Amino acid sequence: MIVPLGRYGRHIEFPLQATYITIHSTGNTGATALQHARGMAGGAFRARTKWNRTGYMTWHFTVDDVQAIQSLPLNIQGDHADHDGPVNATSIGIEICEFRDPARQAAAIDRATRLTTWLMYEKGIPLDHVVPHYHWPQWHFHGNQKNCPRILLEHGRPGPAGTPSSNGSTATIDPWR
Ligand SMILES: [Zn+2]
Repeated sequence: MIVPLGRYGRHIEFPLQATYITIHSTGNTGATALQHARGMAGGAFRARTKWNRTGYMTWHFTVDDVQAIQSLPLNIQGDHADHDGPVNATSIGIEICEFRDPARQAAAIDRATRLTTWLMYEKGIPLDHVVPHYHWPQWHFHGNQKNCPRILLEHGRPGPAGTPSSNGSTATIDPWR
């Protein structure tokens, strides 16, 4: 369900040769991949800051417990983090849906992992270039590192590997080195 050419953030396009994959979670508890993909394709996610280059928040894939939906071609940049900073310029953006039900959440994380693995293979992206949004200090916000994907961070930061996170998942993110 690709955002239509020329509309909703695709009236301007910036080419992408991805060397990173950036993992997010939506912050919209209970909303599915289909809801997000339909929203993005219909222009529902207006930019929230003046630094956004296209007027809309866009990203490449949204993943939930039953499917992964692509919203942008892989050769154009999204606007999923930090706008004109290096994140959008270098990375494919994946949003993992958030669920209260631990089984649905675990299934969404598992599906996102599979998608990420496939993209790593397709694009030749190494594991140390698969990073949480947190990895990128925000240019316009004093270098703040966002609590994202919040479902995989502990108290807003990467925790020790294998530590159960607040939602009960053990799929936490290793501290970035
Ligand atoms: Zn994020």
